[in-house]
Amino acid sequence: MHKQAKKERTLIIVKPDGIQRALIGEIVGRYERVGLKLVGVKMMIPTEELIEKHYTLDPEWRMKTGLKTIKGYQDKGLVPPITDPLEITAKVLKNLISYMTKGPIVVMVWEGAHAVQIVRKLTGGTEPLTSDVGTIRGDFVLDSYSLSDGDKRAVRNLVHASGSVTEAKDEIAHWFKKEELFDYNLFMDHITYGTDLSEILGN
Ligand code: GDP
Ligand code: MG
Repeated sequence: MHKQAKKERTLIIVKPDGIQRALIGEIVGRYERVGLKLVGVKMMIPTEELIEKHYTLDPEWRMKTGLKTIKGYQDKGLVPPITDPLEITAKVLKNLISYMTKGPIVVMVWEGAHAVQIVRKLTGGTEPLTSDVGTIRGDFVLDSYSLSDGDKRAVRNLVHASGSVTEAKDEIAHWFKKEELFDYNLFMDHITYGTDLSEILGN
């Protein structure tokens, strides 16, 4: 396997509810035990600008999220309250900014083979109501879009996880300076990726 493939990186944010619910250890533990490596971590109370920039790094995000939200209503047989996708996103973003700046968050970078996809799998789908059992969002939180939209707030889903390798690259550069990330070896890497396990029993 190409060395670079084992160095895929992804960005995770434990959102304010994750910290208030005392779930930092549980969340970190799930990414750690699968074999991923923590290569950067920081805690902060983010500014509104930092959060807005995070969600709009992809210039298409506003349109995509608006269309996805409208489709979500239609799939449930409901009529979206607003039909303009950008107007819907403006509301989603306003709620997200308000939610994400209410207290400290923990921002992390995890590294390993297929890091982006593995982390998404462990994190679960965006809406806790339908996130799979066994995922972080499926196991530890019970929110839904209907509940959060009705209360005019962001859906509480504990974590942010990059959605693609490109998104991860942009998000990591947004949150971390180069010197805040660490390139190091874990002895466990040999068990995770090694082709010769003869050292377990010695010669
Ligand atoms: P994620 O990558 O799984 O967090 O989901 P997205 O990147 O699609 O969306 C980012 C954030 O926008 C989510 O964590 C939600 O807070 C919010 N969001 C996305 N889609 C919807 C939706 O259909 N309805 C509502 N109310 N919020 C949404
Ligand atoms: Mg996303």
